[in-house]
Amino acid sequence: MPAPREAGGIYVHLPFCPYVCPYCDFAKWPLRRSSAERYLDALHAEIASAPAFAARTLFFGGGTPNTYDAGTLAELVSRLRDRFAPNGFEETTVEMNPDPELCTPAVFAAYRAAGIDRISFGVQSFVASELATLGRRHAPGDAALAFENARAEGIENLSLDLIFGTPGQTVESWDTSLASALALQPSHISTYGLTIEDGTPFAAWFAQRPEAFATNDLEADLYARAVDTLVGAGFEHYEISNFARPGRRCAHNANYWANGEYVGLGVGAASYLGGVRSTHTRELDAYVDAALAGGAIPGDAECLEGAARLGEAAMLALRTAEGVDIAAFAERYGVDFHDFYGPVLTEMRAMGTIDATPAHVRLTRRGRFVANDVCGAFVGFAG
Ligand code: SF4
Repeated sequence: MPAPREAGGIYVHLPFCPYVCPYCDFAKWPLRRSSAERYLDALHAEIASAPAFAARTLFFGGGTPNTYDAGTLAELVSRLRDRFAPNGFEETTVEMNPDPELCTPAVFAAYRAAGIDRISFGVQSFVASELATLGRRHAPGDAALAFENARAEGIENLSLDLIFGTPGQTVESWDTSLASALALQPSHISTYGLTIEDGTPFAAWFAQRPEAFATNDLEADLYARAVDTLVGAGFEHYEISNFARPGRRCAHNANYWANGEYVGLGVGAASYLGGVRSTHTRELDAYVDAALAGGAIPGDAECLEGAARLGEAAMLALRTAEGVDIAAFAERYGVDFHDFYGPVLTEMRAMGTIDATPAHVRLTRRGRFVANDVCGAFVGFAG
């Protein structure tokens, strides 16, 4: 059964940053105006030649999207609306660093006028020493100013990201960050465990001094504290890393977890259309040259079929609080989930990581702590 074509999302990658953080493995480059302008031309060319697609949500990620001025983002929203959502997007998100010079009232006023109604701030920590370790240049108090300015201009749907497992972080300092985040009364909070990515300065540091980094036990403690604190404050823990006030789930990301279709535009961006998952090259010049020439963007493509398609759908659904809806899975994929995944379910239930009923299969609380392993078992199962 095809994925719902009306539930689509548009992701636009804006890859420039005012500075580069030592843990980061995203497709990003330090800001150079000439590169940024040429990249914008390439993006406009790709938008003009992208396949027809009906979208509900728009998400600008990076990089640091707000290294582009607000007028540039407004123009992009307008073009994308004309192309993919003539009646307007239901949700338009911009990721921002909370640096004061990038989060002025004028910026938010221009965003609001352009139809941007959701901001996701890369706060990461409210502890100065952790921000310094992460290479972030904003101060702990900058997020409050950014929230204040956004709200004053009428943007109320505000999310923030936090990282746990930063070298030097303790349970007490994590509590400080969680409490500071809650004090801002965001509509949504994402918490991510620090991952050591190959080729980054953090990978070199880890190779030399692994003892500087959080142990698995400490990471699990920090995650448990986040879950208990945020749920206790009234947030829905609706996905492994994501917490929302009622009615404030991220619709764009919810579409990913529902295995819905999306179009990714820009360097390194991924799309999922008609059962084919494709990813643009992460080489900046290769992307820009191809887009400007009007040719196919280099990259990888993979048609997900059979067990691979089922495993992907299972993995995405298991990330969510609702888990796998057995009836919906059977209707969409023509497969009885309990029959197909019988051996995996038996093993996971014995380990206490899966809760299976005739109607749903979900991760248990314990399962959420080892979600990658549990999901991997479904992805790797060939039937
Ligand atoms: S601001 Fe974000 S995208 Fe840019 S280097 Fe830092 S973590 Fe990476």
